[in-house]
This record gives sequence, C-alpha cells and structure tokens, in this order.
Amino acid sequence: MNPPTHVMSGVVAAQAMLLLRDRFPQRWMTGVCGVAAFGAGVAAHLALDAVPHNNWTLAQNWFPGVAYAWLANAAVVATPFLIFGLVIERRHWVILLLGVLGGLYPDIEKLGYIDFNLPQAFVLFPSHSLKVSSHDGGWSLWECVLVEASILISLLGVAVALARRPVHFLGADLSATGAAGNPSARKSSAAAVK
Ligand SMILES: [Zn+2]
Repeated sequence: MNPPTHVMSGVVAAQAMLLLRDRFPQRWMTGVCGVAAFGAGVAAHLALDAVPHNNWTLAQNWFPGVAYAWLANAAVVATPFLIFGLVIERRHWVILLLGVLGGLYPDIEKLGYIDFNLPQAFVLFPSHSLKVSSHDGGWSLWECVLVEASILISLLGVAVALARRPVHFLGADLSATGAAGNPSARKSSAAAVK
C-alpha cells in the first residue's frame, strides 16, 4: 500500500505493544516491546499489502528529473503521519519509531533488492520483495483509493484513541487512554475523586 498507511499501521502496532508494557512495566519489557513493535509492524505491512491496492502516490510526477523521484514522493506523503505519531506518543518515541520501521521494512528490503542490488540472500520476505507489486485485484483506481483511505482513517482513529496523552480537536479530548496514560491528568482526576 501507500507509505502513509504503512506508517500509521506501524504507529498502531507500537501503541498495541505499549499497552502491553503498561500492564508489565518491568524495565526489560521495554526492550521486548520494542522488538515486538517492529515485528507487529512487519506483520501489519504484509497483511495490508494482501488487500488490493494501487501505489498511486509513488507514481505521481511531483519531482520531474529527480533520481528516485518516487522515493521523494514517499517521503513527502509519509512524513506528516510520522510526525503525527511522534507527537501523540512523544514519551515513547523509540518504540514508536521501531513500530514504524517495522511497518515500512518489507518495502525497505524491496527497495534494497530492486533499486540498490541488495543480494537476494538478505531478502526476508521473497514473495513480497522480489517483485514490484501494486496488485489492484481488478479494482479501479478510485475503488483502491477509497478502500485504502478508509483503512488509513480507521488507523488514525485507533491511534488517537490509544494515545497516551490527550489529543484535542476543537476543544474535545479524543483519546480514550490519554488521561490514564498521562501522569498529570491522572493526578488531577485522582484529586477530583477525593
Ligand atoms: Zn509492501
């Protein structure tokens, strides 16, 4: 799929592992959660690529004459979502980045193999990474765009709901776990109970 979807699936994968770390706050769990966030990001990437899609953002001619212009397209469309993830989970940015790295990893090894001649022995997911893929399953471009946009919006919603700090929009706190994960919010709600 397109980079924003993979970035957001990596963000949500990291948040899922952070939920686990909330339950088991031992120090060693941080490392386990980081590795698990990367693995969950990779699994999410492969699952999402199984859905018919069209990598239309990479095919746009936004940087004419630039080598690897599609890579620049990918950076342009992915960066705002990466920043969004880092803002809502800023206290856990390392685990967040590991989740996003996992979410992008299969395409990174594909890039290495196809564009930079990485030996095939280094390819961990041959059925994904040995070919240029954008399988649309016979869907039109707009059907692909609509389905992927729905998935992306759902991932954004889940990320906001799982955020460990309040995410405000038009004055409303959209995060379900924001107060629970925010020490100062937790203190003020405890004071309110007293
Ligand atoms: Zn892929």
